[in-house]
Amino acid sequence: MADRKHPVELTFDAADEYRPEPSAPPETPAWKDGRIRIGIHTSIAGDISRALDIAASLGANALQIFSASPRMWDRAASRILPADAERFRARRKELALGPLVIHCNYLLNLASPDPVLQARSLQALHREIVRALALGADYLVLHPGCALGGDTRAAISRLARGLKQAALRLPLGGLRILLENTAGQGSALGSRFEELGAMLDACPDLALGVCIDTAHVFAAGWDIRTAEGLDLALFALHRTIGIDRVPVIHVNDSKTPLGSRVDRHQHIGKGKIGLSAFARILNHRLLRSCAFILETPIDKPGDDQRNVAVLWKLVRGKPLRLPAGAPHRRRSLAHRPRTIRWLPQTSRGK
Ligand SMILES: [Zn+2]
Ligand SMILES: [Zn+2]
Repeated sequence: MADRKHPVELTFDAADEYRPEPSAPPETPAWKDGRIRIGIHTSIAGDISRALDIAASLGANALQIFSASPRMWDRAASRILPADAERFRARRKELALGPLVIHCNYLLNLASPDPVLQARSLQALHREIVRALALGADYLVLHPGCALGGDTRAAISRLARGLKQAALRLPLGGLRILLENTAGQGSALGSRFEELGAMLDACPDLALGVCIDTAHVFAAGWDIRTAEGLDLALFALHRTIGIDRVPVIHVNDSKTPLGSRVDRHQHIGKGKIGLSAFARILNHRLLRSCAFILETPIDKPGDDQRNVAVLWKLVRGKPLRLPAGAPHRRRSLAHRPRTIRWLPQTSRGK
């Protein structure tokens, strides 16, 4: 020990400074190979790994799944066993499927003013994230929830708080949580791009993004049937959110008309949006790096495979054989209306 007369001189040597190892740059997933990605929502009934084989057999190179029952509050039993998760990851690698999108349970409502529902939703989202991480998912899609009669701004801040708490202490790695736009039925949040933008802005430190559903955007009032209408919607999206924060598009035709605010999916080309609109969506320069995921109904066997095949045809620009009676037939490609039909999105009050 140094005495008072000869104090030890403490000099700072810059070489001694603690410098943590720079974290490795995030690995680019193998599926990001520049090829267009077309996926479909696939059932996990029976065995979760089977969903991968089903997606591949339908002709998809990407997929979406639920990681547990989507309409029941999950229980501890919904945990994914490490062996199952490992088998799933290995099979996915073999089949070169990506991105893997997981859609959250429909019951979740982090924006609810009811503290019980809020707490339940938070816990359920936490488990969704844990399962998504176990399966090595790229994106976890969540509906923003409903204000249930309350103030929209307060609902958005409850949602933001819930998101932060659910992800607390979970290293998300390559996983990104995507908030999906909605048709705007009742007090559902997220039918306006500004609301989605406000949600992202409220969580600057979270790996968040947005998933755009074509049927919802149409039901919310954006006329994406024409080239002009699609551009108008995409530019508004780019201005409020930024296309780089929209990695996934749910491609669904709509059973309900423009601005109906009712969410009913239809087969590609057989609904109110129409085939030519989907050709433009799939080949739009602003959406070049998006993955396209189908959530179309299965009314008869083979519908899922047919919808995947239709999308590939639209991408490859093969001549389209439009189904009889489909709205906006080839005529709409040749004679684009000069006026832009756009129903302004009604601002939702309290
Ligand atoms: Zn959804
Ligand atoms: Zn959707």
